[in-house]
Amino acid sequence: MVMLLDAPAACSLQMVDDVVAERQGGKNAGFFAGIAQDWRDCVQAYIDAEGSPAAVPTWPDIAHKKNSFMNLYLSPMDGSVQGKMLAAMRDHDLSLCPACGEAGAPNTLDHYLPKGQYPHFCVTPHNLFPMCDACQTNKKEKTGDAANPRFFLHPYFDVFAANQVLEITIDPPFEAPTFNLGAVSLLTAPQQALVSRHVKELGIVQRYARFFRNQHQRLLRLVQNLREADLDVETNLILFRNNAAAPTRNAWEHVFYSAVLSNTDMLDYLKDGDFPDYR
Ligand SMILES: [Zn+2]
Repeated sequence: MVMLLDAPAACSLQMVDDVVAERQGGKNAGFFAGIAQDWRDCVQAYIDAEGSPAAVPTWPDIAHKKNSFMNLYLSPMDGSVQGKMLAAMRDHDLSLCPACGEAGAPNTLDHYLPKGQYPHFCVTPHNLFPMCDACQTNKKEKTGDAANPRFFLHPYFDVFAANQVLEITIDPPFEAPTFNLGAVSLLTAPQQALVSRHVKELGIVQRYARFFRNQHQRLLRLVQNLREADLDVETNLILFRNNAAAPTRNAWEHVFYSAVLSNTDMLDYLKDGDFPDYR
């Protein structure tokens, strides 16, 4: 239920140079010129550490100028370099949220490292990506805690998320089954732990439960129609699963159909079982 994104089109280091250059006409010219190299070093450190809050330090020395950084994001001037970058990032073609995999165009931008704690990354392209409202509401300013310094998968750096990282099990009774969500068992133990934290902290478990209940009812109607039309149930479900695999195997529909097709008892029920009357 996450999606690996292509790296941002804009270079995060060039963004520092360009923003500093644009500030040279304003009242913060001296400040930004003075911190330009350190700021660049911070962004390089972010990229080297792949955004991990365990390895990327905050920057207490610029705390007194926090608002000057925040304003770069909150009220960019028309035609400014970061304003154009933000507009391009909001003008995406995503049809699902890369953080959770739920269908629908994500309509906010998230700062992977929150801008409140890391104001110097508030216009760093590698720290920004589209996210849905539900994920944003759950993520807030969280990054990790003492026991688990990193809660969230990074959409540009956690390349293992290009594959399916979450799966559900479906337990009988199949007319009203129980769904359990977990990390794919083929992942390494640290990857599984990270995926589990990501799911928990974004409140995905609560949201997916409703989705899979509804999806199950749609599945029974679909299979009823297939049986009445004398069409092969398994072949058609494979087509539905494969069709749902783009743009990511972590799309909720794909996770659902994968679970159905890997459950032989469920498949037997779908092929021959007595369905509740939904019509
Ligand atoms: Zn989301």
